[in-house]
This record gives sequence, structure tokens and C-alpha cells, in this order.
Amino acid sequence: MSEQPKPDSPVAAKVFPSPNHGERLGADGTPRRPDMLVLHYTGMPDAGDALQRLCNPAAEVSAHYFVFENGRVLQLVPEGRRAWHAGRASWAGERDINSASIGIEIANPGHQGGLPPYPAAQIAAVIALSRDIVSRWAIPADRVLGHSDVAPERKLDPGELFPWEELNRAGIGHFVRPAPVRGGRFLSPGESGQPVEALQAMLAMYGYDIALTGSYDEATTAVVAAFQRHFRPERIDGIADASTITTLRDLIASRPAATVIL
Ligand SMILES: [Zn+2]
Repeated sequence: MSEQPKPDSPVAAKVFPSPNHGERLGADGTPRRPDMLVLHYTGMPDAGDALQRLCNPAAEVSAHYFVFENGRVLQLVPEGRRAWHAGRASWAGERDINSASIGIEIANPGHQGGLPPYPAAQIAAVIALSRDIVSRWAIPADRVLGHSDVAPERKLDPGELFPWEELNRAGIGHFVRPAPVRGGRFLSPGESGQPVEALQAMLAMYGYDIALTGSYDEATTAVVAAFQRHFRPERIDGIADASTITTLRDLIASRPAATVIL
């Protein structure tokens, strides 16, 4: 009987290997250690089909971990290897997010499947797994992100029903109580000028990949919507209302002190 490989995390029940991985490399071409955690939903109706796809060499996608609806966790790729989960993405000036991160795929049909809520058992498993990963790799709270944060123009996952606040209460990720949604001044798509540039600068300061054009273009709308999906999920419209701007400002002000700004 051959010995089964042991998962890197005790939260994972077993290894279910995917061939879709490579070497983690930094910008200078030397090996890089992960310092970011990226959460996804599978976006497929059936968890088993999603798992098969993440292990299919022809699909060329993978993640380090897979979390079923019932909370069962499998490890697909060793943490020391570069799994192929983020695709074209960027955060805090870094573009090779796969080399920088550990990726978790959470089984959920996603927006196209009507965005069913995440079951409690599944979220409990995501919390246990994330806690183990961020503590072993010393991942800063503000580098626990959604796929939509690092690819705002392409991705919506893990979606606005993902309980970021609950994770934060469990000690994972950075979150502040969103400012209440109400009237007042706001910035909208199509506007331009210094206030728009200031908004873009704040989003870029937090880590979002956004150009300081001073014009509220489609890219800006996508980044504001991604910000809302993660940090102010009550209303996701890409409009920078007072609640959105206040929440962003509070988030920047409460950023964990240990974070090194690149
Ligand atoms: Zn994703």
C-alpha cells in the first residue's frame, strides 16, 4: 500500500491532487513565499464537476484547497507550489497573484446559479482553514481578499453573500463596519475632476489596481463595485456614495500596523 501524501493543513481531510501548478517566483525570478490568501467560489452548479475541472490538465486551473458545502476540505495543490486560480489579476502593485497567494475554492453555484447562501458548515470550514493558513504563513489581515478584489473587471467571486464580517470576527481578514447607506454627495460614472482622482487614489492606496485618471470610467466603476461587494455589500452599484467613501476611508485608517506598504 502506497503512503498517502499528508495535507499541509490539518483542516484538510485528504490530498486530492491536481496537476495544475508550477513554481512560485517573485518579480526578481527567485522563489517567493505566499503572503496573500484569495477566496473564490466555483461558480458551477455541481461541486463534483467543479472539483473534476480543477484537476483536469486541459482546464489549466486549480486552487490549493477545495471546500464542499458540507464543510469537507480537500487539498489539491501543495501550498509551496503556485496554483492557477487568480488568472490575470493585480493587487498593491503586484501582478503575479498566483505566485503571491494561496487560493481556496468554495463550492457555490455563484451569480449565474442564483447565488445561494453559503451553508454554515461550509463557512465554519473556510474559517478554520483560513485561520490555519494565515497563522502558519503570517498573512496580513488586509491581504485576505476575494477574487473580485484582485480582478475587479473580470470576476464577481466569492460574491456579496460571502460573510467577510463573520470572518473578521473570527480573526481573519480586514473589515470595518460599513457606514450607513443614506443620501448626500456622491460621485458617479461619467464625472471627472479632482474628487474622482482622490477617490481613485484612495482605492489604489488600499491595494486596488486603478489608474489615477481623474475620470470616472468603466474601470473605476468596476473597482468601486468590487470594493462594495467586499466591504459595503448592502448596495453594489459602482457609485461612490458617501457610505462607500466613508467606509473606504475608515478601512484605510484602521489598516493593520504591521502592513508594509509597497
Ligand atoms: Zn475565482
